[in-house]
Amino acid sequence: MKNSELLSVATQYGAPVYVYDTSKIISQFQRLTNAFGSVPKLKLNYAVKALSNLSILRLMNSLGSGLDTVSIQEVKLGLLAGFKPEDIIFTPNGVSLEEIEEASALGVKINIDNLSFLEQFGSTHPDVPVCIRINPHVMAGGNTKISVGHIDSKFGISIHQIPHILRIVELTKMKVNGIHMHTGSDILDIDVFLYASEILFDTAKHFKDLEFIDFGSGFKVPYKAGDIETNIEELGQKLSSRFNEFCKEYGRELTLAFEPGKFLVSEAGYFLARVNVVKQTTSTVFAGVDSGFNHFVRPMFYGASHEIINLSNPKGKERYYSVVGYICETDTFGNNRRISAISEGDILCFKNAGAYCFTMASNYNSRYRPAEVLWHERKAVLVRERESFDDLIRNQIDVGELFKAEVTPPVVK
Ligand SMILES: *Cc1c(COP(=O)(O)O)cnc(C)c1O
Repeated sequence: MKNSELLSVATQYGAPVYVYDTSKIISQFQRLTNAFGSVPKLKLNYAVKALSNLSILRLMNSLGSGLDTVSIQEVKLGLLAGFKPEDIIFTPNGVSLEEIEEASALGVKINIDNLSFLEQFGSTHPDVPVCIRINPHVMAGGNTKISVGHIDSKFGISIHQIPHILRIVELTKMKVNGIHMHTGSDILDIDVFLYASEILFDTAKHFKDLEFIDFGSGFKVPYKAGDIETNIEELGQKLSSRFNEFCKEYGRELTLAFEPGKFLVSEAGYFLARVNVVKQTTSTVFAGVDSGFNHFVRPMFYGASHEIINLSNPKGKERYYSVVGYICETDTFGNNRRISAISEGDILCFKNAGAYCFTMASNYNSRYRPAEVLWHERKAVLVRERESFDDLIRNQIDVGELFKAEVTPPVVK
C-alpha cells in the first residue's frame, strides 16, 4: 500500500486502526500454492489465530483455503464465515476432551496431540477418524545444522512413543487419517525442515488409512529489508518431489497440508497510530503514540522488531526516536529508530501488523480495541468498528447496592 493510501484510511476512520491489504494476502496464498505446484493434492489451512476477522476468513474461503483452528470458538468463527466443516482442522493443545468432542460433533477434522485423549477418544468414537500430532524433536540449532532437541516441548506425541500410539490404534480400532507436525519455530534452514519431514514420512508408514500429511507452519517472513526469510520456492521444490516420491512408496496419493498463519497475513497488515506527544529527555527523544501493548504487543512480548515510518512526513529529515505507548508501564515499540522528523499529531505506521497483532489486543488500561479496515481493490472497507464504552462494561454486573455510601461515615477509633 502507498503511504498516501494508508494516510487516507487514518483520516477516514481515525487512529489507532489496523489496515489489511487483501492483494498481499492473495499474492502470498498464490506464492505458496505455486511453490508446491507439482503436488497433485495440496491443502493450505490458514491458521485462524494469526488474524481472525470474519472478513479475512471469508477471503481465505474464496481463495480455496481451509482453516487451522485451536479453540472451539475459532471453529465456530470458521463455520460462520462459510467454511465447510471438512475444510476445518481442530489442532488444539491442552484443551479438554469435551471441547474436542464438541468440535468433532460439528464435523471438523480432529488432531490429537496426547496419548491420554487418543485412547479415550478412540475408545468412545472408533468410527471418527483422527489426525495425530507428532513431535519429531527436531529444531535448528547453533552451528550444527541439525540438533535433536525440543524434548521439553508440550506439543505433540513424541516419536519415541509410536509403539504406544500403534497399540492404542490397534486396540480401539480407530482410524488415523492424518499425521501432523508443527514445530512452531521459524523455518530458516530448509535442510532441517526436510530432516523433520523424513521423520514424519517414517511415522506415516505405520498407518495404512492416511489421507493427508500436515507439515504445520513456521514460514518466516521478512520484517525489514535484508531480513532472512524462508525460501518458499526452494522448500517447495525439494519437499514436493520428496512428497510425490513418498506417495508412490506409500501406494496412494496423499494430500500435502500446511497451516500458514504469519506467511499469509503478516506483511498485509499495517497498524496506524497518532503521535500524542514528542518528549525530549536528557538521553533520547520519545514519540508517544495513542496506543500501547494493549493494541500491539509483539514488540514487548516477543521482542519483535517492527519497522516504523512516519506517514505524515515521509520525506522529512531523519532523527533517532524511541517510540513508546500510553500504557502506564514500559511499553516500547522501538528504541533508537531512525524515523523522519516527528511532530505531535503525525500518523506513524507499524509494518508487519497482520499476524498476531489485533488478535492479541486487550482492553488493558480500559482502552478500546481499535477498528479494522480492509484495503480491497483500492478502497477502504471497515470490517470492525472501534470499541466504545458500552463494550467495556458489557459483561459487568454492577453491585453498587452492596457499597452504598453511608449517610454517616462509621466512626473509626
Ligand atoms: C500457530 C499455529 C500455526 C501458524 O503458525 P505461523 O507461524 O503463524 O505460520 C500453525 N499450526 C498450528 C498448530 C499453530 O498452533
